[in-house]
Amino acid sequence: MERETILHLSALELAKAIRKQEITSEQAVEAVLEKTDKTETDLHAYVSVFREDAPEIARKRDAFVREMPEGTELPPLWGVPVAIKDNLLLQGKKTTCGSKMLENYISPYTATCVEKLEKAGAIVIGKTNMDEFGMGVSTENSFFGPTIHPLDPTRVPGGSSGGSAAAVGSGSAFAALGTDTGGSVRQPAAYCGLFGLRPTYGTVSRHGLVAFSSSMDVAGPITRSSLDLAAIYNIVTGADDKDMTSVCAPSVDLLAMKQYSPKGKRIGIPKQLFSEEKMDQEILKAMKIAIEELESSGARIDLIDMPILDYAVAVYYILSSAEASSNLSRYDGIRYGYRASDVKDLADLYTKTRSEGFGLEVKRRILLGNYVLSSEHFEDCYRKAEKARDQVRSAFDEAFSEHDLLLSPTSPMVAPKLGESLKDPLAAYVSDLCTVPASLAGIPAVSIPVQSSTGFPCGIQLMARKFGEQELLGASYFHEKHCTSLERRGDA
Ligand code: GLN
Repeated sequence: MERETILHLSALELAKAIRKQEITSEQAVEAVLEKTDKTETDLHAYVSVFREDAPEIARKRDAFVREMPEGTELPPLWGVPVAIKDNLLLQGKKTTCGSKMLENYISPYTATCVEKLEKAGAIVIGKTNMDEFGMGVSTENSFFGPTIHPLDPTRVPGGSSGGSAAAVGSGSAFAALGTDTGGSVRQPAAYCGLFGLRPTYGTVSRHGLVAFSSSMDVAGPITRSSLDLAAIYNIVTGADDKDMTSVCAPSVDLLAMKQYSPKGKRIGIPKQLFSEEKMDQEILKAMKIAIEELESSGARIDLIDMPILDYAVAVYYILSSAEASSNLSRYDGIRYGYRASDVKDLADLYTKTRSEGFGLEVKRRILLGNYVLSSEHFEDCYRKAEKARDQVRSAFDEAFSEHDLLLSPTSPMVAPKLGESLKDPLAAYVSDLCTVPASLAGIPAVSIPVQSSTGFPCGIQLMARKFGEQELLGASYFHEKHCTSLERRGDA
């Protein structure tokens, strides 16, 4: 198989080719590393690449395939090179979280979800760049410099898992894990023309995922196909003794996914997430096409009113910043990572370490978090936001009592130009409009790639009730296989 052909395979397609000995895992790893060598200087998808370890593991995987008796069942991602976001721990390797604070921090153990990927045969090829501690929409808030969009060097790949999306989009990994607190898997997947899944909160253990906002953090896959999403979801989910909020989830049946039909399904579109004023024209057009296509496949689609969603962005930023300010208090120059030098006393050590170790956006969140948790503002900010979160949850419960799925754009815009998202932090927060509601409610959501009217990728988002991944990924597969994009319809 040609190298370029290999690089376009999905993770499952590659696993199959390795199983059938049409290609070796070592060849796949070499192809990815060669591609990465070519693109990394411009793209900067990775913070670290494991040039030595990965081929060695691949050779072991290949030896096993050669020697295994006929009929042996191999784990689903045997020999497949994948990338993981740099806030997921991998024993013996650096976990920087895109921060100077953790620039030289070596992971003492491996995150449960990464361990599960490795057990499934995947080979971690490297750790991907991200907005510092997951805070951002463009991967420009990384201490190590921005990641660039794989299709357009003047644009950002989205964030905060922009490195993971750029790696998969450019052929530098067959799939990647990102983490999604308020949209950081779905939005970069949408910007880069890929699939991204935010699983139901708690289905993926957070053990070894560096905490940003503990009540919303979930690791999720970014891939080239819906089946890859399902396969990785099945691998990484499960209750874990090391995370008391983790739960056992039913796995997704890939065969049943292929049988999915939208016929007779009721799909609601929250009108708060689909409006002329808040969205770019090209996104509205892409949504209209998705609606037409789902309707012509037999789905019943209606606009629904969820007024509380108008407050979702504010509620998300209050709660996530409150949790972040508490989670990030551990970086004090004593226990982890960076420590300032030339300090007078303990207070000076804290102040200097945190002033020098954290970037601007992280400091903004810590300030906001401390403000809403302060005794003067606790009741009118934090408490109110918690109550509003309950209302968001109830609004979704009500919506799902009558609908199988909810539909919206993933982001109100296509990937912005470099630098744009940094100009106005508030505008960047507002751009999370469509992704934060599912985060607050803890429900699963998928971003499915479609083309905008300019031909550039964007995403539509489907949301399902808790543990509704089967329905969600079935619909994603259906859309992938049966719905046409703008360009293919000739409407562009
Ligand atoms: N853009 C959101 C934020 O900056 C989401 C980040 C995330 O999901 N990690 O908080």
